[in-house]
Amino acid sequence: MFESLSERLGGVFDRLRGRGALNESDVREAMREVRVALLEADVALPVVRQFVEKVTEQAVGQQVLRSVTPGQQVVKIVNDALVEMLGSEASDLNLDVTPPAIVMMVGLQGSGKTTTTAKIAKRLSEKGRKKVMMASLDVNRPAAQEQLAVLGTQASVATLPIVTGQQPVDIARRALQAAKLQGFDVLMLDTAGRLHVDQALMEEMKAVAAVAEPEEILLVVDALTGQDAVNVAKSFSEQVALTGVVLTRMDGDARGGAALSMRAVTGKPIKFVGTGEKLDGIELFQPARVAGRILG
Ligand code: GDP
Repeated sequence: MFESLSERLGGVFDRLRGRGALNESDVREAMREVRVALLEADVALPVVRQFVEKVTEQAVGQQVLRSVTPGQQVVKIVNDALVEMLGSEASDLNLDVTPPAIVMMVGLQGSGKTTTTAKIAKRLSEKGRKKVMMASLDVNRPAAQEQLAVLGTQASVATLPIVTGQQPVDIARRALQAAKLQGFDVLMLDTAGRLHVDQALMEEMKAVAAVAEPEEILLVVDALTGQDAVNVAKSFSEQVALTGVVLTRMDGDARGGAALSMRAVTGKPIKFVGTGEKLDGIELFQPARVAGRILG
C-alpha cells in the first residue's frame, strides 16, 4: 500500500531530498495526489477536504527523516491520520448488561441486514459462548421471517416462532418476554428494511426501539453503494440513536472510502465488516486494514 501512493508522491518530493523540513508548497502539492486517491476510494468530498486540511497542518514543518523518503513520510502521516479517523482500535459489541442484551439491526432492504444478523448471532454463540435468540420484525417483505428461521437453522441459533399477522412492536414484546423466560443472553431483532429511507420506516424503528430499549442499534450498509451508503447513514443517524455501523460486501471491490465518510458523518464506530455471503463472512472492523485499502 505504501508503494502506490508514495510513488505518486515521489516526484513531488524528489527535489526536497537533503532539505531539513517538509515545506508548505511541497506538502500542498502532495495533498493534491492524496485528495485524488481518497476521492477514487469513494470518500465523500467534504470529508476529503476536512481530512486534507488536517493532514497538511500536521505535515508542514515536520523534519524529514533520514530513514525514509519524504514521499513515504507523508504517506505515513496520511495513513496514521486515516487510522485515527477510522477509530484507531477495533470496537466490539457492548453487551455487558443483565441479560438479555438486546441488539437491534436496522438498514435498507438488500443491505445484507438479515444475513448480518445471523452472522453476528453465530459469532456470539460460537466465539462468545452466548445463548442467542433472533427474531425477525420484518412483516413487509414476504418470507423475511422464514429467511431468518432458515439462517437460524444453518447457524444453530434459536429463532422466535413466527406468528402470522403480528405487528413489529408486538413481535418485539413477545421476543423480549421469550428471551427473558428462556434465559437467553442476547436477543437480536432484525427490523424491516425499505428500498429507500422513508418516514414510515423511521417511525417503525423508533417504536421498536422504545419498546426494546436496545444496548446496540447497528446500522447495516452496503459498502459497494459508496456515496449512497453515506447518505443513508446520515438519515438513519439523525433519527435513531445508532451505536455502530456494519459495512457489508467488503469482499467486493469497494475501496473502503465509505468507511471513512461513515465514521465522519455518524460519529459512530464501524464495528464489523461483512466479507462474504457465508455465515462466517464477518470480521471485527480493523481501522489499520481499511486505511491500507483506502490508500490502495
Ligand atoms: P436484507 O434485505 O438487508 O436483509 O439483505 P440480505 O441479508 O437478504 O442480503 C442480500 C444479499 O446480500 C444476500 O444474497 C446475501 O447473501 C448478500 N450479502 C450479505 N452480506 C454480504 C457480504 O458481506 N458479502 C457478500 N458478498 N454478500 C453479502
